[in-house]
This record gives sequence, structure tokens and C-alpha cells, in this order.
Amino acid sequence: MSDLTGKIVLITAAAQGIGRASVEAFRKAGCTVIATDINAEKLEELDGVPDVTTRVLNVLSAEAVAAAVAAIGRIDILFNCAGVVHSGSVLEMSDNDLDFAWDLNLKAQIRTIQAVLPQMLERRDGAIVNMATVASSVKGVPNRAAYSISKAAVIGLTKSIAADFTTQGIRVNAICPGTVDSPSLHERWHATGDFEAAKKAFIARQPIGRIARPEEVADLAVYLAGATYTTGQIHVIDGGWTA
Ligand code: NAD
Repeated sequence: MSDLTGKIVLITAAAQGIGRASVEAFRKAGCTVIATDINAEKLEELDGVPDVTTRVLNVLSAEAVAAAVAAIGRIDILFNCAGVVHSGSVLEMSDNDLDFAWDLNLKAQIRTIQAVLPQMLERRDGAIVNMATVASSVKGVPNRAAYSISKAAVIGLTKSIAADFTTQGIRVNAICPGTVDSPSLHERWHATGDFEAAKKAFIARQPIGRIARPEEVADLAVYLAGATYTTGQIHVIDGGWTA
């Protein structure tokens, strides 16, 4: 493990869920954290937290991403956390669903990487962590067509970057969680019309007997940022779902 003290980490979707937990985890690891999200109000909850700077950033905009990276300057670690879940099989998936999933789950990661990678290459040092999910090329999950297609592509992206840039000091890894307790998960449970039944069903598919805490996934992100001999890999953290 490399010492992350003094490293500058850019986190997308940092206002809630796994991104928010990661702000705390990277901070505790000694990093300076640039916490970004589209939700300005939620980001404000991080105001005054030591070693954390907040910045509103919509990762759907290449211009906004490029401007943010230029303004921030040095970025040692990039944690691409932004993503959205669409429900439905391939038959229910509209073009818009797929386009949006592709844009936010995959292309946003490409945008940040294209903006940050050149400076990492100049220093021959950089760590990238991309958020995928087991509901991708790892495991077929019902009613997750647009989500799985776009997140499987994140795994391809991760591997292609490792193939191209490992020899130049860049490490890149993908995280594949199972189900993680987060505000958007609660929204999905509510949307089913029976919150408790949906919660029970989600817990039942995790052999470990519970869903993950965001902090557990955040710890993995920190580990991968400092794991000096690990690159191009997918890291499953799913309570035994795919065991
Ligand atoms: P969440 O879905 O509750 O929160 C997502 C955050 O993303 C919000 O703060 C939102 O404002 C932000 N966001 C949305 N659009 C944005 C944009 N255009 N630009 C910048 N920020 C934007 O958080 P979560 O459930 O912890 O999910 C985080 C990541 O983890 C996602 O990529 C998700 O696919 C992945 N993931 C989550 C689970 C889970 O069960 N929660 C499982 C596997 C993978």
C-alpha cells in the first residue's frame, strides 16, 4: 500500500451514498478531497469539513469536466462514482433510457479520464477507480438491462486503460458492488409500492444476510487507490451474491 497522505483525490457523485462515504474515507487516509456532485444543496453539507473542497460538477458536460479539472490543478486519484440505475428488461428499455445510462454511467467516466489522465501521464503517476457493479458482465440481474449494458462497458474501459497506460505509471481498477445502502436504493424500494417487501427481497439475495454499508465500498476505493501492484482488475464486493 502506498501512503496516500497529501494526495489529491477528485470524487464524482460525492454528495450522497458511496461517493459521500468515500469523501470521509479518503480524508481519513490523509488525502485532500475535491468532492463534486450535481446537487449543490447536498454538497453544502460538506462545507467546513477539514481537507475537503466542494465543487458543483455535472459530469454529463465535457466542458464542465474540463473546466473543473483545469481549475483544480493536480489530481493524483480519480474516483468515478457517478451512476444511475434504470429498471426494466431489454424489452422495456427505451432509447432514452439506454442513451442516458450510457452517458452517465460510461461516458461521464471517459470524460473525467480524458481530462485527468494527461496530467497523470506527465507525472507518470496516477490512480483511477471506476464504479461498476456486479450487475454488469459479472452477473445477469433481472430488470437491469440499460444499467448492466453501461456498467459492463465500464469494465471494458477499465481494462483498456490498464492495457494502454500501466507501463506509464497509471493504475486503474473497477469496483463491482452488490447492493449498497444509499438514498437512491431507498427511492427504488419506495418506487416498488411496497418498501418493506422490496427491502426484504434485496437482502435475501445477499448470502451474507444484509446489504453493504457505503463505508465498506468506500474503504475498497481507498485501498485500490493505494494498492501499488493492482491494476486492470474488477473487485467484487457483494456479500457473496456471486460466490
Ligand atoms: P446515489 O445513487 O444515492 O447517489 C448518486 C449521486 O450522484 C447523487 O448525489 C447525485 O446527485 C449524483 N449525480 C447524479 N447525476 C449526476 C451528474 N450528472 N453529475 C454529477 N453527479 C451526479 O449513490 P449510490 O447508490 O451510492 O451510487 C453511487 C455509484 O455506485 C453509482 O455509480 C451506482 O451505479 C454504483 N452502485 C451502487 C449500488 C447500490 O446498491 N447503491 C450497487 C452497485 C453500484
